[in-house]
Amino acid sequence: MWRRLSRSQKLLATAASATGVGGAYLFYAESQRTRQRHAQYMATLNGLPVAHAESLQAHAGVVETDIKPHDFWAPPSRQEMLNKLKGLDKDGQKAKEHEEFDLLIVGGGATGAGVALDATTRGLNVALVERDDFASGTSSRSTKLVHGGVRYLQKAIQELDYEQYKLVVEALHERKIFLDIAPYLSHQLPIMLPVYKWWQVPYYWIGCKMYDWFAGREALESSYVLTRSKALEAFPMLKKDELVGALVYYDGQHNDARMNVALALTAVNHGATMANHCEVKSLTKDENGNVNGAVLCDVFTGDEWTVKAKGVINATGPFTDGLRKMDDKENSEIVAPSAGVHIILPNYYSPGNMGLLDPATSDGRVIFFLPWQGNTIAGTTDSPTEVTHNPLPKEEEIQWILNEVEHYLSPDVKVRRGDVLAAWSGIRPLVRDPNATKTEALVRNHMIHVSENKLLTIAGGKWTTYRAMAQETVDRAIQEFNLKPTHPECRTEVIRLIGSHAYSNTMFIKLIQHFGMETEVAQHLANSYGDRAWAVGTMADATHQRWPVFGKRLSPQYPYIEAEVRYAVRREYASTVVDVIARRTRIAFLNAQAALESLPRVIEIMSDELKWSKERQKKEFDDAVEFLTTMGLPSSSSQIVYPVTKDHHPAGAPIENAKSHDAIFSRARFLPDELKEFQSVFSELDHDKDGHLKAEDLPKVFSRLGVPVKQDVLDAAIKALDNTSNSSVEFSEFLEIMSQVKDIEIRRHLTNEKGGKISLERSGGGV
Ligand SMILES: Cc1cc2nc3c(=O)[nH]c(=O)nc-3n(C[C@H](O)[C@H](O)[C@H](O)COP(=O)(O)OP(=O)(O)OC[C@H]3O[C@@H](n4cnc5c(N)ncnc54)[C@H](O)[C@@H]3O)c2cc1C
Repeated sequence: MWRRLSRSQKLLATAASATGVGGAYLFYAESQRTRQRHAQYMATLNGLPVAHAESLQAHAGVVETDIKPHDFWAPPSRQEMLNKLKGLDKDGQKAKEHEEFDLLIVGGGATGAGVALDATTRGLNVALVERDDFASGTSSRSTKLVHGGVRYLQKAIQELDYEQYKLVVEALHERKIFLDIAPYLSHQLPIMLPVYKWWQVPYYWIGCKMYDWFAGREALESSYVLTRSKALEAFPMLKKDELVGALVYYDGQHNDARMNVALALTAVNHGATMANHCEVKSLTKDENGNVNGAVLCDVFTGDEWTVKAKGVINATGPFTDGLRKMDDKENSEIVAPSAGVHIILPNYYSPGNMGLLDPATSDGRVIFFLPWQGNTIAGTTDSPTEVTHNPLPKEEEIQWILNEVEHYLSPDVKVRRGDVLAAWSGIRPLVRDPNATKTEALVRNHMIHVSENKLLTIAGGKWTTYRAMAQETVDRAIQEFNLKPTHPECRTEVIRLIGSHAYSNTMFIKLIQHFGMETEVAQHLANSYGDRAWAVGTMADATHQRWPVFGKRLSPQYPYIEAEVRYAVRREYASTVVDVIARRTRIAFLNAQAALESLPRVIEIMSDELKWSKERQKKEFDDAVEFLTTMGLPSSSSQIVYPVTKDHHPAGAPIENAKSHDAIFSRARFLPDELKEFQSVFSELDHDKDGHLKAEDLPKVFSRLGVPVKQDVLDAAIKALDNTSNSSVEFSEFLEIMSQVKDIEIRRHLTNEKGGKISLERSGGGV
């Protein structure tokens, strides 16, 4: 038969069978790999809570192919958690035996939540308390990079510093795990290093390649060189002058507060008892003087009680010394707090998929602007500070970032103070080792210290290395407190965080198809909740429009939907408005004004869920406005009053007497006739017809137009328009100044405000 076939038929048959065998082999190999992955994954489930294991098993066989809407595991309520901490059963009745925990962890930031997850997955009986909300401290205020640190690498190489090199390599290892265990909350981000001198090309190239090599098999995409024109194509807003080219390297980026909440929920899912808004007031000690528990306080009710544990872990970040002093007033202070400010700019400051970083600015600080959640995040400063819970970003720091950002951007992109949509400050808890001989020496990474009274402190480090820090801490705790874990080995390298199991990067399409959601909303839900986005979707109300069918937005500018508020309350322990606007959604971090405008609707939904009284609604509103003033909202907004009647607009348009504030924050608009008049006066005074007026001629323009403007108002308007002190003004810039003036007139009219100081908050909802 074979001999009877023609040459071409033989060739075809050979190719077909080769392809078939190859295909069959590849299929076999792939299914083997899948099976192995599945087996490894199921192995990590051994001994895990039944509810989660069941939900995972139900999905393990259908991952990425057959995801259906479902209502995922519902965590125990906060009240149930408090009951457990009080030694009561689920229904609030006295439990037979008063529970002693193996570990009590104080602080629900990245460090504390990481320790809780590690300890509980080793089979220890773990409690964690957080006096505000999970991630309310530094852990929601980071740069959002999951990184080894190119700057630290530079230091390691330049100073031939082996310890520094080891820290970079460890962080690169953790970076890969981070991206693997929380794939929906983190992703790779290409970051450009612009090069302005030829000799810097090989220098940066070697640096980037070493960064790739040090990551070894765990490297992300490889770094590469861009010519000048390719650099400008990738980053069109970059300044062209003297640009030689660029290097692009890869790091990770994540949603820090949501990552923190996912860590806390995963720990709960594995059996940990975790309560937010629950404060440690003092530490208790046994007859030998060793710390053996704490007096806790429910922040909402003021209720106080004592909880016992074999060991207490201090994971309070910048507040480390507060707890150390509870242990012993004589304990030395080991935290050297340093503040870092970030600002949020509109998305036109960076392309959607590439960041920019200069590791060495004129004064040695690092400057970057990175795309994040649809806007641009820029920073950062580093200055000594006091420890406060909601630190205020200083105006000089915001100005410094704006000035630095301006160096890198094309003159077409006017860097305006009014473009700052939000600004926040985070406190870096740099630590000194109390055992070190040189007391002023700061620890390079993190420090674990056990006090004489056996309070175990873990402090310092960075978000990227939270898991490794937790592993080391739990190893030490097991040894110090003589604990008996059922799984002595740490397993967090392979335990994927809640929401990751049935997530795929195309699941947003299924959400669109199933719920009739906008693409941007579906992508946001998939990237914020992973497979739990299905549960959020099932809570969404119909819009009663043809499209989208489900998913009413909280703010027209951002893809956050009302169902997220319900989900945050029911499934993510959100108990205050600030929990929702700052850490479950990130709207307060992205745009303080948009967050302010969403408050009435958020309060309405939370009141419905939590049955809040009118007094509580008002308190929540006032607290939220106060919080937003630390996120860059002008302090004048703290005058806004929440309506205690139900007369306000249900869809969130604030508040009757805040209509004036709407007007204040809006961009003034001009009528066609007004525009014509401005143009004609502008051209009349533009004697040399070059399209510019001298700044000193502006008062003449205003007087011709019959608009009396004081010089200080004008100066402030020019400053708000442009960060540089430009002496000439184009027509478009003149319009900006005119609208500033118009805004202040509206403000005066509505608020009877006296004085001519122009606010910086106008323009693009800026702050
Ligand atoms: C500006 C800035 C940028 C950064 N950028 C990055 C980055 O890009 N990548 C990176 O890897 N790292 C970054 N970091 C570092 C990282 O953010 C921190 O290392 C990490 O968030 C610290 O977490 P933590 O849990 O130790 O502290 P925190 O998040 O501050 O948590 C401590 C918690 O303890 C609670 N607490 C305090 N006292 C009590 C009490 N008595 N009872 C109960 N609870 C209490 C507080 O309310 C707080 O929530 C950055 C840090 C800063 C400041």
